[in-house]
Amino acid sequence: MIRFEDVSVTYDGATEPTVQGIDFEVPEGELVLLVGPSGTGKSTILNSVSGLVPHFTGGTLRGRVTVAGRDTRTHKPRELADVVGTVGQDPLSHFVTDTVEDELAYGMESLGLPPHVMRRRVEETLDLLGLADLRARPISTLSGGQQQRVAIGSVLTPHPQALILDEPTSALDPAAAEEVLAVLQRLVHDLGTTILMAEHRLERVIQYADRIALLPGPGEPLLLGTPAEIMAV
Ligand code: ADP
Ligand code: ADP
Repeated sequence: MIRFEDVSVTYDGATEPTVQGIDFEVPEGELVLLVGPSGTGKSTILNSVSGLVPHFTGGTLRGRVTVAGRDTRTHKPRELADVVGTVGQDPLSHFVTDTVEDELAYGMESLGLPPHVMRRRVEETLDLLGLADLRARPISTLSGGQQQRVAIGSVLTPHPQALILDEPTSALDPAAAEEVLAVLQRLVHDLGTTILMAEHRLERVIQYADRIALLPGPGEPLLLGTPAEIMAV
């Protein structure tokens, strides 16, 4: 579903690529964790899927990244919203509207869907994420875990096949992190969503992973395996 073919990314002005030789696939309906110390290029890899690299951050992407068959270099992030949703660490930086239901609707605006389909998708997503009681609330009044669920909901309403999450629980306390991870597990199991998620707190998330992609250190090759295989490294 998400495929990296011999991908390297070199930022403008850098002499060496930040990541290179990235060659792996996130199979449909799996949750793959991208793990590694800070600075090894996890965000760079995720951003090459959402299209932020190279369209917004500059830099040169070599090789090929595809999501549901779409090449992320020849599609702008906006043109990928119906195949891949992206959520970062800080939900507040994500929001563009005031209330929960407006935020869930906003993600679909560029899709040209009829109003009744948009309304139905907002309802489905409120239910799926346990947000129905909070629908009219200003997002700024919600807890961190609730805000992160709204951020995930806002990228789900275009019905993407894949989700990219960059340390989505890093700003959350353990209980709120559990809420968010439970939602992700439900998406994979019940809807068959494909998830690639970066995380440095492995112990918090390993139980949810089908596979792990490990960046052991800066410039070192990526290792791919089951959680048991990677824990044995
Ligand atoms: P991680 O997510 O594993 O912490 P990043 O992908 O954020 O790693 O960063 C990897 C390296 O790339 C770092 O040295 C960082 O400074 C550099 N980097 C990240 N984004 C940019 C950018 N837009 N321009 C230049 N260098 C960048
Ligand atoms: P519609 O356009 O009528 O909403 P779709 O063909 O887009 O229907 O969706 C197909 C089915 O997938 C719907 O029944 C919907 O309930 C379900 N669905 C709900 N959420 C998601 C999601 N995030 N990704 C994919 N499918 C979803």
